Amino acid sequence: MSRPARFDRGHTDDLLTYLAASPSPYHAVANAAERLEKAGFRKVEETDAWDGTTGGKYVLRGGALIAWFVPEGAEPHTPFRIVGAHTDSPNLRVKPLPDTGAAGWRQVAVELYGGTLLNTWLDRDLGLAGRITLRDGRDVLVNIDRPLLRVPQLAIHLDRGANDGLKLDRQKHMQPIWGLGDDVQEGDLIAFVAGEAGVDAADVAGWDLMPHPVEAPAYLGRDRELVAGPRMDNLLSVHAGAAALAAAAATGELPHIPVLAAFDHEENGSQSDTGADGPLLGSVLERSVHARGGSPEDRARALAGTICLSSDTGHAVHPNYPERHDPTHHPRANGGPILKVNVNMRYATDGSGRAVFAEACEEAGVPFQNFVSNNAMPCGTTIGPITAARHGIKTVDIGVAILSMHSARELCGADDPFLLANALTAFLEN
Ligand code: ZN
Repeated sequence: MSRPARFDRGHTDDLLTYLAASPSPYHAVANAAERLEKAGFRKVEETDAWDGTTGGKYVLRGGALIAWFVPEGAEPHTPFRIVGAHTDSPNLRVKPLPDTGAAGWRQVAVELYGGTLLNTWLDRDLGLAGRITLRDGRDVLVNIDRPLLRVPQLAIHLDRGANDGLKLDRQKHMQPIWGLGDDVQEGDLIAFVAGEAGVDAADVAGWDLMPHPVEAPAYLGRDRELVAGPRMDNLLSVHAGAAALAAAAATGELPHIPVLAAFDHEENGSQSDTGADGPLLGSVLERSVHARGGSPEDRARALAGTICLSSDTGHAVHPNYPERHDPTHHPRANGGPILKVNVNMRYATDGSGRAVFAEACEEAGVPFQNFVSNNAMPCGTTIGPITAARHGIKTVDIGVAILSMHSARELCGADDPFLLANALTAFLEN
C-alpha cells in the first residue's frame, strides 16, 4: 500500500540550489549538514565521548558525512537502515606548486581527479573552490564562484583532425589559464585564494582546491522535464539521502536506526580515511551501539539485521548510441530510480535485495527500472560492493539513470531526483 508522496518538483528545485552551492566535497557535506541541522540534527565530534541520547546526530570528516537518527526506544541491537552515496565527482585538482605559465599566459598546474571526460572541461568558464587549512589547524571553505579559469581548446585550424577523434594529453593540454603575465611567482595563486577567503596568506598551511564550471544548473527541454548540471554523479543521491533522512526522522517512531553515509573518494577507488573502503562508517555504527550500552554481541546482531541502499548514478539509454546498452533493459529519464544488477558483483544487488527495493518503491508509489550492462561492455562499479564486503552488510545498488556521466555537465530527468527521495524515505521508515 503506498503512502502520500513526500517530495515533488520542489525537491528538484532545491537540488539545483544544492548543486550550485556544492562545488567541492567539503561544500557538499557542509550543505547537507546545514539541511540536517534545520531538521534538528546535531554534530558530534569524533574526539568526544558519545552518549546514548535519542535524536539526530552527524559526524563530519573532510568530504564525508555520516548522519543517523536514534528513535525513542532504540535498543543496543536495533539494526540500521543505511542510504549510501558519494560526495566527490571527477574534476581537475590544483597541484602543490600551482603557479606556472607560458607565452605570456598565467596558468594553474592541475592533476586529474577520477575518470574525467576531459573534453567536457574545455572552453568552460571555471571558478575555484575547496578548502584551505590554516596554521592553527582550522579549515576554511572557499568558493570563488565567478569565471576565473579556462582550459582553452586548440583552434580547429591548428588541429584539423579534432573532429575525427580529439586527442588530449593529460599533462600538456589540461592546464587552465587564469590571466596574463610573465612574472609568475610561486605563491601567487594561494595568495589570491587567501585574499578571496578573507584570510592572511601567511596563515595558509595547506589547501585542497579544484576548478568547477560556473554555469548554473538549469531545467532543460521542451517542457523543462530535464535537469542539466554539474556533479549530479553523485550529489543527486547525497541530496536525496539527506532529504529522506530528515523526513524519516520527522516521523519519530522507527523500527530501525536510519543512516546517511556520504563518502568521499569513490571516483578513485574509495581507499581513504573518508572513503567507503575506510573505517569511518564501521566506527560510527560501532560507537553508536556502544553509546547505547551495547556489547560486541549487540553490534553483531545490529549489523546482521542492517540493510544498505547504495545510491549512485547509472546510464540512461543514449539515443545516439543505443547499441552500447543492453537491448532489453532500457532505463529512461523520469522512469523512476534504477535497480543495478551485475552478477559478478560490480553491483551488490541480488534477488533478495531486489525484493527490499521493490517493497520500498511500492510503499512510496514510485516506479523503478532495471539496469544491467551490455555483456560486451565493461560494467562500472560503486560503493555498494565495498560496503557489503567491508562491513558484511546486506547491500542493494540503486540510483538514477543519467546521460553524460562524468561530464563537467551531466543530464537527468527532473522527476527522478524526487522519485528517488520518496523511495529512500520509504526504505528508511519501513
Ligand atoms: Zn558515482
